Amino acid sequence: MAVIEAQSVFKNYGVIQALKDVSFTVEEGECFGLLGKNGAGKTTFVKSLLNLVRLKEGSLKLLGKDVTDKTSRQQVAYLPEKFSFYPYYTLEGVCEFYGQMKGLAGSELKQEVGQAMERLGISDLMSKKVKDCSKGQLQRTGLAATLIGKNQLFILDEPYSGLDPIGIKELQVLLIELKNKGKTLFINSHGLDSVEKVCDTMAIIDKGELVVKGKLKELIGESSLLDFFYAKVGNHES
Ligand code: ADP
Repeated sequence: MAVIEAQSVFKNYGVIQALKDVSFTVEEGECFGLLGKNGAGKTTFVKSLLNLVRLKEGSLKLLGKDVTDKTSRQQVAYLPEKFSFYPYYTLEGVCEFYGQMKGLAGSELKQEVGQAMERLGISDLMSKKVKDCSKGQLQRTGLAATLIGKNQLFILDEPYSGLDPIGIKELQVLLIELKNKGKTLFINSHGLDSVEKVCDTMAIIDKGELVVKGKLKELIGESSLLDFFYAKVGNHES
């Protein structure tokens, strides 16, 4: 079953064409990496998936439902690139807020929040306030929040952002664990090394257009993902 279906997606910001005729599917259980240089259109694609921006043309479906149908996001976890957590919330409060949005309450909510914070190694930070946290601690909190509820699809925008090398390694393990549970992962990342370690399929977009899409290992062959990426979208004019 296709978990993400993009058909001929166009998105403009005034005269800027951020997405031009983008079509691809992500199947259930895939770990998919969306790659591209700065300004390529990756965030616009993620925002389109979440119906945060309106398409000019084309169709986008999540778990078989058009993204304009709000029930399409019921089993979707989203980690944004930048957080806007309320500064005086505790990290437990942040996770509870996300759990409540997933329809959890009472002991079930407490239990899921506790488990998710434990999994991300932040159970000793439950009562710490957002305003007193490092970027890495907030990133772990955002990741913990994605584990709460019955999510099938994880849309992760720059999931490695702010993590130290230990955090990066732990996140790679967590993502592989989710993949092994049959979850579908959609990762938008600059961290080619980490994408190469966890993703089995990928797409590269450049100037809003899909350049290549397929199985990562088949596409890159003997080369590294960095060399492949550079060959496809490097600054060949210079
Ligand atoms: P990426 O995430 O790959 O860095 P973006 O999706 O953020 O790329 O941006 C794609 C293009 O759309 C860029 O040219 C960017 O400047 C432009 N863009 C993004 N958001 C807006 C906006 N709100 N208004 C105008 N232009 C935008």
